[in-house]
Amino acid sequence: MVRSSISVCIRVRPPSALEASRSDPVSVHTGSSINGAPPPGSGEPLTLEMGEGRKTLRCRYSTVLGPADGTDRAYASVSSIAVGVAGGVNGCVFAYGQTGAGKTHTMLGDERNGYDGVTGRCVDGLFSELNQMAETRSDSATSQSYSSVSYSVHCSFLQIYNEKLLDLLASARGHAQDVDGRGQPLAIRENKRPGAKPGAKAEVFVSGLSEYRVTSKSDVMALIQAGTQARVVRGTELNDVSSRSHAVLQLAVEVECVSEDFRVLKRAKLSLVDLAGSEKMSSKATTKNHTKELTSINTSLSTLGNVMSALTDSKRTHVPYRDSKLTRLLQDSLGGNTSTAVICCVAPCQSAAEETASTLKFADRARQVVLTVTTNEVVDDKVLLARAQSEIARLRMLLKM
Ligand code: ADP
Ligand code: MG
Repeated sequence: MVRSSISVCIRVRPPSALEASRSDPVSVHTGSSINGAPPPGSGEPLTLEMGEGRKTLRCRYSTVLGPADGTDRAYASVSSIAVGVAGGVNGCVFAYGQTGAGKTHTMLGDERNGYDGVTGRCVDGLFSELNQMAETRSDSATSQSYSSVSYSVHCSFLQIYNEKLLDLLASARGHAQDVDGRGQPLAIRENKRPGAKPGAKAEVFVSGLSEYRVTSKSDVMALIQAGTQARVVRGTELNDVSSRSHAVLQLAVEVECVSEDFRVLKRAKLSLVDLAGSEKMSSKATTKNHTKELTSINTSLSTLGNVMSALTDSKRTHVPYRDSKLTRLLQDSLGGNTSTAVICCVAPCQSAAEETASTLKFADRARQVVLTVTTNEVVDDKVLLARAQSEIARLRMLLKM
């Protein structure tokens, strides 16, 4: 059992052509390139100039990425989480920030860059680890050797839009769902895993969600492409719905390690989440549908913040996971048995300073959450038991002689 905090990475994107043409000044600085010392302590410094007459925020985070840093560095800050899933430890990475701050660019990438995001890199890291374990017939987490190691991975991809769960891969099965929920929204249920130890906690799952067996990164990338297009097509119809839905890609991994005497079964889940935009947009809500969307996003993101506050407050016993679909779905990842990282994306310009300050506040809350993480493994020692019993029988025979 290991206790660790939610790891936080801040990523500042480069100014867009529009921001540059409007001469919107850069207000977020990475490194110590600006006057004024960052607060003492470990981590990389970040400075946010709030604008004329307003205070400057100086802080440190374990990873701070500037406009010149690529997605490879964002992946480096979470790679151990992806690889750890092969060893039976649940993992979750999510991107938070206002619309246009770079969440989708960071997590999923797009068609132009070949979907080169943290998600694809996590999938690559996970399969490399699984293949290495199968080839060397060993568990790299414990260095234990086995006579065989085999694995299976199943992939699902959904979006949460207006508090409804919609299957992004359903169209691949001919069950397309409308973004306005006219299709069949899915339900979240709780169940104990088959073979779970007595007293083990029930786990959250989505009933009826399509799951595809995948054997390589390219299998997953094809599903990401199909699901992302489903998200974007509906987005163009309804004016960029993609930034008003949370997208959740999950990989369920099972590893079977067999030795002469026993069998170890490890199961873990990797969740990769591209959240909806966090900005307060009440003034921008123009239609009834739009208002409903913004209310749903605000409910789920403020519940996410409330869940984190409750988890960091030792006096609070109730954690409001059930107040939104997002927190209910990620229940295990937020306060439970999961290594979790959040990548907070921010725009670099003065016009976004208010939203950037609110994203940094979220980052501060997230990093105070402490998780207790264990390996999910079931040791089947029937073989060992049978051997011990036959040895006892043999010794009894000897005693009688
Ligand atoms: P969000 O998902 O947070 O709404 P996007 O990921 O769609 O934002 O990013 C908005 C725009 O900025 C996109 O055109 C994207 O390609 C670009 N962008 C975002 N982050 C970066 C980055 N780190 N480097 C280069 N371009 C970026
Ligand atoms: Mg987006």
